[in-house]
Formats: sequence, C-alpha cells, structure tokens
Amino acid sequence: MPPGDGARALIDWYVRSASAWLAPRGWSWTERIRATPSSIAVRDLGRRWGSAGQRGAVALHWALFQLPPALVDYVLVHELVHLDEPHHGKAFWRRLDRALPDYQQRRARLADLGRHVWLGDVYVREPPTSPVPSTPGT
Ligand SMILES: [Zn+2]
Repeated sequence: MPPGDGARALIDWYVRSASAWLAPRGWSWTERIRATPSSIAVRDLGRRWGSAGQRGAVALHWALFQLPPALVDYVLVHELVHLDEPHHGKAFWRRLDRALPDYQQRRARLADLGRHVWLGDVYVREPPTSPVPSTPGT
C-alpha cells in the first residue's frame, strides 16, 4: 500500500464518523443558541479548526474529532456565533460566553491539546526535525 493511502482511508473514516456524530449535536446547539446555519459539515480546513461562510455554511475540521467533545462543542458554538457576529468583537465574546460560560478554559485547552492532533501529514522518509508544528486557529 503506498504511504498516502492509509492516511487517506483514515481521514475518510474521520469525515464519515464525525459527520454522523455531529449531525444531531450540531442541530441541538443550533436550536439552543438560535443560530441559523444552512449546513454543518466536516471537512479538511487546512490550518483552521472551523469556518462559518457568508451563506451560513458552518464547517469543522475532521482532525478536531480526535479531541474531547467539549472542545468540538467549543469550535462548533464559536462558528455558529460567527454567523451573526462575523468579527471577534465584544458582542461576539458576550454571546459566546452566554452559550458556553467556560469557553475560556475550553479555548485554552484547545490551544494546548490541539498542537498534538494529527492533521493528515504522511512522513515517507524521516520525521521532520523542525520543532512543534504551528497550531490551527479558529
Ligand atoms: Zn472566530
């Protein structure tokens, strides 16, 4: 099996499993905080954990699902709030705080644990000698 194939299969598995897991959870959060996403999807977002598109499409990175559900919720709710508050202004953080009063702890934990998550890289020869890879943001 060529080196990239195993990684591809694992990523596909993450996308499928995470999508199934996220569907009911996503819509329950949507109701709770009265957000109106057009869709909630799982895919590869490169260096970001989540995104909220102008047309209401919310997406979470498949790699996020290696982390505890409380951190998935943080990114999910963060992106849902972005649908109404596109920028990280006072109104954004106030609304996020109402939805997740412990969001600061979750955010810090995501920054910490997120550095150890596998983002789909395949090392064919030697592992890189560079120090810690940069962490995706939200
Ligand atoms: Zn944000």
